[in-house]
Amino acid sequence: MKLILATNNAHKVTEMKAILAPYFDEILSMREAGIDHETVEDGETFMENAVKKARELAEISGCCAIADDSGLCVDALGGAPGVYSARFSGVHGDDAANRRVLLEKLDGVKNRAAHFTCAIALAWPDGRLLTSEDYLYGEIAHTERGENGFGYDSLFLLPERGVRTAEISPEEKNSISHRGKALRGLVKKLEAMD
Ligand code: IMP
Repeated sequence: MKLILATNNAHKVTEMKAILAPYFDEILSMREAGIDHETVEDGETFMENAVKKARELAEISGCCAIADDSGLCVDALGGAPGVYSARFSGVHGDDAANRRVLLEKLDGVKNRAAHFTCAIALAWPDGRLLTSEDYLYGEIAHTERGENGFGYDSLFLLPERGVRTAEISPEEKNSISHRGKALRGLVKKLEAMD
């Protein structure tokens, strides 16, 4: 069975291909599969969005499709920015502006607890579905540090280690991250299928 990845993000494509290669005959990004489709991400949860993306792509392509949706949830903000993480500032994908807005909203706030969430859905064209969700817990720092990663990484503190996720290597981040853990959880479920 062929698998289509509901992303063109080079980092995610490489990571997903490496982990999922043993389970599929061929793995293609949407671009490689010649599919140009954008799902309207209007779910109230990460999982709703991931399932919607995977199901739409499986239907369009007639192949298996995998999609993920992730974001940052801050306790003191009632779980915000959540599914709006990529557009917290109002401009989709402006990471620096999103981080600025986050720091402004947490100005003077003592409780800095936060977590990243990643939801992953794998859909078959016949309607079968596997899902996996996982988390990375930490705190929002008062200042930015580190050059690696993306999004909120330069503000996301791993308190027991005293470093931001932007200060650790991609391999190290993958071993502890919400995305890495959710993907490995999905593989476990895939292996348990007959
Ligand atoms: P997406 O699921 O790749 O679209 O991610 C949504 C948004 O959540 C990103 O634009 C980032 O702002 C944030 N985000 C998700 N995962 C991470 C992460 O590992 N580090 C930093 N920011 C993240």
